[in-house]
Amino acid sequence: MNKHQDLLTTKALLTGWTLTSGGTPPAATLTRDAWSILILYSGDIPDTASLLPPGRADYDTIPVDDVDRWMKCSREEMTLHTIGERVTVGGRVGTVVGFRLEDRPPAAGPWRFRLQVVYDDGVDGDPRPASAVHLSPAPAAAGECAGWQCEDLGTRMCLVREYTRDASAPLKRKPLCEYHAEYGDRRLTVVRVLHQIPTPVVSEEV
Ligand SMILES: [Zn+2]
Repeated sequence: MNKHQDLLTTKALLTGWTLTSGGTPPAATLTRDAWSILILYSGDIPDTASLLPPGRADYDTIPVDDVDRWMKCSREEMTLHTIGERVTVGGRVGTVVGFRLEDRPPAAGPWRFRLQVVYDDGVDGDPRPASAVHLSPAPAAAGECAGWQCEDLGTRMCLVREYTRDASAPLKRKPLCEYHAEYGDRRLTVVRVLHQIPTPVVSEEV
């Protein structure tokens, strides 16, 4: 265990994260509830950090300096929401697509973070976690791609619009495969990709 990991151990104890370390090249993983943070070392120096928030399929690279801040965020607030979750914020319906730290340190208490929400009219918002209210149904399961004659698995939830000259056609949420999420098809235009749909890990029968 290197010096940085010694320090992390102490911080993890104070903030309720579980630290596991080891491996070649050396790595440390912090987990708390459905969140995890992966730190890769170059020698004793933390080289890269990445964050896996609840509902994401893959780690996102984050600045190494943000590790401390995420560790110091409110545990209670971090368990409120999941990427892909449907929420209402002040009466507007949208989808949680991510989380971001506030830039400035709080006057007191835990470090603050915001939800990244795309409202159903395509507009972005960044409400505080406590102001977003969970809305049923549960986060989408991966289903068949809604692309034209496509039988691939829809692994990206997208905000799409019927392909017409009328730009006021209503927006809809549909699962698309990676290809159709990028290019759309003859019937639908992808306005934006909302989030990845995590596919459940299939456990092998023994
Ligand atoms: Zn497709």
